[in-house]
Formats: sequence, structure tokens, C-alpha cells
Amino acid sequence: MNYTEIMIRYGELSTKGKNRKVFISQLAHNVKKSLHEFEEVKIQSDRDRMHLILNGADSQSVMARLTPIFGIQSFSPVIKIEKDTDIICQTAIEMVKEVWEEGQTFKVQSRRSDKQFIWDSNDMNREVGGAIYHGIPGIEAKMIQPDIRVDVEVRREAAYLSCQTIQGPGGLPVGSSGKGMLMLSGGIDSPVAGYLAMKRGLNIEAVHFYSPPYTSEQALNKAKDLTVKLTPYVGGIQFITVPFTEIQEEIKRSTPSGYWMTITRRFMLRLTDLIREQRRALAIINGESLGQVASQTMHSMVAINEVTTTPIIRPVITMDKSEIIEIAEKIDTFELAIQPFEDCCTIFAPPEPKTRPKLEKVEYYEKRLDVEGMIARAMAGLVIEEVKSSDSFLNKTTEDMDDLF
Ligand code: ATP
Ligand code: MG
Repeated sequence: MNYTEIMIRYGELSTKGKNRKVFISQLAHNVKKSLHEFEEVKIQSDRDRMHLILNGADSQSVMARLTPIFGIQSFSPVIKIEKDTDIICQTAIEMVKEVWEEGQTFKVQSRRSDKQFIWDSNDMNREVGGAIYHGIPGIEAKMIQPDIRVDVEVRREAAYLSCQTIQGPGGLPVGSSGKGMLMLSGGIDSPVAGYLAMKRGLNIEAVHFYSPPYTSEQALNKAKDLTVKLTPYVGGIQFITVPFTEIQEEIKRSTPSGYWMTITRRFMLRLTDLIREQRRALAIINGESLGQVASQTMHSMVAINEVTTTPIIRPVITMDKSEIIEIAEKIDTFELAIQPFEDCCTIFAPPEPKTRPKLEKVEYYEKRLDVEGMIARAMAGLVIEEVKSSDSFLNKTTEDMDDLF
């Protein structure tokens, strides 16, 4: 079918009163960004709907780009045709034929805003319905809960037909809630946290702590590939690598092992917060889940969180591991996350981390460290790069290795 436009229904944003304009223009911006190579497509947004005028672009390819865009409740491919009764009936038959499967029922729902048109909406329901019924042998009409609803709308300039509604992901347009720094490890939880934060309209930049030579380049590439998996929702994502070796070595050398974990996490949080300030973001996002490991007990979180008053968003805090894995599978990060590359935290994992660290002790041990100097040196070594949906890091390294041999 030669669809001429896609009609987009907004999700929750329609209830946002005055902010609505901001939400709609953010959504239009995001749609435009993800359709950047379809230059011919024009976006028209109004209060209730957004219309993508295809101007010849392939509707299937355009629709495939829309499915991950937060803020879209649903969308329908629409065909714009001449206001001619024969053309309307013929097009309706062809359009339904394309999606109809044996045994499915249909219903025509018409609207006429052009009162000059010879059929009123009842005539249209009857005439177009009759044409489909006779044109597709075996199809049955059903008024309540039909499988296929054929929408016919006659406006002043043309007639519009559609018969498919495709669910969007809901949520709020990414960026409409500002920006947050996602602490992204190579694990299962943090990519899920990033995905859920984006779903509520937060734009993200990824911060990754990297401790070579204790962690390999493959571990870094894995974190980048996980970031690639998050790009369909936003386009490119800034990936920030923080050199963390010196800090981890220093902590290990100068403080008792029971406190390594708490102090390490405090450094991660201080650094993320400084980067957040530099990058003008409003929040920090992480993948902590209550009680999952020693650093994620309430007592640990209190001791770690003490270094900042910036809001920390923990989207998976109350989820069970199985619930987190379910989302990880849905967004296709699970397989990658379980690949065994060492993480900077596992390498320096103490035998018995404190699950109830005492803040006085933490502060006492940190006095042995040149906290400011360590932080300044790590900040001086930040590497910031954009990760795009076409990127692939783990594979690339394997290919490069293949070339070597
Ligand atoms: P994940 O599956 O996300 O790695 P986890 O269950 O392994 O989480 P931890 O390793 O304790 O939990 O980490 C808790 C959170 O701290 C992570 O979800 C992530 O947000 C952050 N974090 C841990 N390691 C790193 C790292 N190397 N770089 C950036 N953030 C990290
Ligand atoms: Mg981890």
C-alpha cells in the first residue's frame, strides 16, 4: 500500500497542561532526529496529533524508526486520496486486503468534516463497508470489537483512510525531563536503569569507570556496546570514560579492606557529580537494586550517598533480579551483559565488604588519601566520545585481531 502519511497519537503528554507545547516540540525534535536520513518527510504537529507527511518515503521503514520513540502512544499509516466515492471504496478494499487474515472481522468508522461531501458518515459506513464486504470474500462485519477498524475521514482537501494502529512505547519524550548522567557498568542492571530513565523523559550521558590494566579493553568495549543498545531511544549518546586505576590502587593501599567498596563508591559518585556539573545535567542515574550486593544495603547507600545532594535516580531499586532481567531481554542488553569481562569493581572486591559501614570511619580513612588530588587527576583524564547506533566495539576489536593473525 502506498501510504502517504503516518498519524501519531501522543501518550501521557496530552495531560500535561501548559507544558504540553514543550513536550510536543521535544517529541517532534526526537522524531526528526531519528528520521534524519528521510529528508523528504515533513513533520506537522498540532495539539492532539502529529502527522508525518511521507512525500514518497517508504512507510514501513519510517514506522520501524517510530517504535522505540518514547512519548508515542500509537501510530497509524494513512493514505490520502481524492474525495471520490469510487476511489475511496477501491482504496479501502486494497488496504484491508493487505492486512486481513482468514477469519478476521472488520468495521468502518467514518467522519465527515467536509459537509459538502455527498455521503454523510452513515452513508460512508454503509457504502465503504459494503464495498469491503463484497470485495474480500469471506470477510465478516462486526460492530463491537472488530479485528480491523477502517477509519475513513473526509476533510475539505481530501479523504484519509487507515486500518492499522501500531502501539508505541508510551512514556515521555526523551529530553523533556532534562538530562541525567547514567553510571554505566558492564552489568545487567545499569543499562536497564538507563532505559527506564529515558522512558520518563530523561536524556542520558553514560559515565564509565575504567581501570586498566586490571580491566581489559574488551570490558570497556562491552560497556560501549551496551550504550549502543540504548541509542534507538535517543540517537547518539555521549560516552564518558573515567580513568579509575590510580584511585582504586590508592584505596587498596591505604585503607582497610572492609571499607574499600564504600570508599570506592564514594569516589565514583563524587566524580560522576562533577562530570554532571560540567555537562549541565540535573541528576545521576544508577542501577542499584536494594539488597542485591553489599554496596546496595540501605546503610551502604546512606554512607555512599553522603558525598552529594544531587538527586540520584535508581529506576530498578525495588525490582527483583528476575524483573530486571526481563527488561534487559526486552531491550536486548542481557546477552551482552552476561559476557564475562572483568569489571573494575569485581577485581578490587574485598573478601568481606561492610554491609553497615560507619560514616565516621569512612571519613577517618578518607583523610589518609589525597582525595582532591586523586579526583583532579581523574577529571583531567576524561575521554568523551559519541556512541552511535551504527557503532560496534566488541566485534570491531575481534575483527582487528583477526586482521592481525
Ligand atoms: P550492574 O549490573 O549495573 O553492573 P550490579 O548489580 O553489578 O549492577 P554494582 O556492581 O554494585 O551492581 O554496581 C551498582 C551500580 O553502580 C551499577 O548499576 C552502576 O550504576 C554503578 N557502577 C558500578 N560499576 C561501575 C563502573 N565501572 N562504571 C560506571 N558505573 C558503575
Ligand atoms: Mg556491576
